[in-house]
Amino acid sequence: MKMELRKSFQFEAAHLLPHLPKSHKCRRLHGHSFKVEIVVAGECDPEFGWLMDYADITAVFKPTWEKLDHRYLNEIPGLKNPTSEEMAVWIWRRLKPKLPLLTEVVVAETCTARAVYRG
Ligand SMILES: [Zn+2]
Repeated sequence: MKMELRKSFQFEAAHLLPHLPKSHKCRRLHGHSFKVEIVVAGECDPEFGWLMDYADITAVFKPTWEKLDHRYLNEIPGLKNPTSEEMAVWIWRRLKPKLPLLTEVVVAETCTARAVYRG
C-alpha cells in the first residue's frame, strides 16, 4: 500500500530580498508567519498499518525549525537570499539525509503563495 504523509509546521521570521530593486516591497525588512509542509511517501508497514510515525518527522525537522523560528533569515548561513524557493531547497538538504522517504518540501510565506521543491 503506497502512501503519502504531509506534516505541517509554522514559524515566525523576518527577511528581506537583497537582490530586488529598492522600490520593491520585499526589499524592505519584513516578517512572515511561514508555513512548511514536509512530505514523505513510500510503502506502508503492513503490521503497523502506517508509513511512519508523524512524531519522527517532527523530531527530524525540529533542529531546523529552531534555526528558523524568530530569526532574521538573511543571517543564517546559506540563506543570504531567503526567498521561499531558496528556503525550500535549504530545508530539503538538511532533512533528506535523515529522512530518506522525503519527497517534497513546501514553504508558504502567505496563505496564497507557496514554493514546492521535490529534490
Ligand atoms: Zn517576504
